[in-house]
Amino acid sequence: MAEPTSAPQGTDRTRRRHLPILDCVPIERGGRLGAAPERAAGLAPPAELVDAWTRRVSYLRVSLTDRCNYRCGYCMPTVEPSHLGREQVLSADELVTIIAALKQVGVRRVRLTGGEPTVRKDLIPIVVRLAKLGLDELSLSSNGERLSELAAPLRDAGLSRVNISLDTLDPERFRRITRHGSLERVLAGIERVRAVGFPHTKLNTVALRSFNDDELGKICRFAFEHDLTPRFIELMPMGSGMSIDSGGFLSAAEIRDRLTAEFGPILPILDEQPALPGGGPARYVGVRFGHQVRRVGLIAAVSEPFCDTCNRVRLSASGQLHACLGYDEAMDLAAIVRSGPKAPCDCAQAVVAAVQAALVDKRAGHGFTQSGCGGPQKPMVSIGG
Ligand code: SAM
Ligand code: SF4
Repeated sequence: MAEPTSAPQGTDRTRRRHLPILDCVPIERGGRLGAAPERAAGLAPPAELVDAWTRRVSYLRVSLTDRCNYRCGYCMPTVEPSHLGREQVLSADELVTIIAALKQVGVRRVRLTGGEPTVRKDLIPIVVRLAKLGLDELSLSSNGERLSELAAPLRDAGLSRVNISLDTLDPERFRRITRHGSLERVLAGIERVRAVGFPHTKLNTVALRSFNDDELGKICRFAFEHDLTPRFIELMPMGSGMSIDSGGFLSAAEIRDRLTAEFGPILPILDEQPALPGGGPARYVGVRFGHQVRRVGLIAAVSEPFCDTCNRVRLSASGQLHACLGYDEAMDLAAIVRSGPKAPCDCAQAVVAAVQAALVDKRAGHGFTQSGCGGPQKPMVSIGG
């Protein structure tokens, strides 16, 4: 995959020279970062996490597991993936060690994701411990299958918000895209999330040509009627062989056209300040719904990239820190927290230094459009969406 050559909008490539250069990041494309953890351990931690393009990191997505009770076609490989062994997955102690360390240098928001985070048996104790760290927001992305049972315990554990994925309101289509999911259970999960009082719940839909492009209006209406904010996500070419040219890709421009056909002219959102809780990469447009203007989010990573404002990094279930979703390369934080006689080690400084080292080599942008079917070899389910 070709590396993007342009700097993020509004930045100057020369700024890169003014950043402290940490002596530890020989990048192997598609692999781990050599002996970086050991070398990063000797570095003084920065006061905040800033990448090579002066983008500040304040948001961490944490994959709690690479397992899922669904098999969405765009996320899971068609061949059943081999899963991480239990000993490879970061333990609750290791997660808390890493997240607490990153909180000290400006990570204010954490989202728990997966795979499906609700299949992890110790989810509730993990949420209890992370909630005590005093983050601005601790949220969770879920397919909704287990939220009927878990919404109340999650709220009691201190979770701030939930996003729920839902690609169709048609039970047969739902079974097809999830390869055996139950729409009924997800709808019950959504009801429960509302009933227990989670605020600002978003409904995430991957918009797919010839699958749900005739349902975008229906999904919006469902969301509005249930006090949810609908968001449409462009298909990202994750995983070996998945292509944005394969016919399913629906661009944000086409999504807006579908919304216009359903609701009339798209309206600008004038009150963007303050932004919706959860911020994130979605750009919001307004549609007329009865007498109101309601928000619809568009996450257009491919056709309208937002890399210039990227404020996030991702931690995979096996403890690999991905500075960018668009590349396979990652920094092995598991090796750091498992080093030393007592695991997890007292290693906040080393964790922070390793993450900062990874950020020095963060590219200006993903390469999703560079090769047509670019993107990382890893499927989304293993990095965490
Ligand atoms: N299982 C949870 C869920 O489905 O919400 C959390 C993990 S899932 C990987 C997070 C989000 O990534 C979901 O909204 C899913 O639809 C989205 N996603 C997965 N693969 C994708 C792809 N290839 N392109 C765009 N979005 C994708
Ligand atoms: Fe599972 Fe979520 Fe991926 Fe679907 S999108 S397979 S629910 S992790």
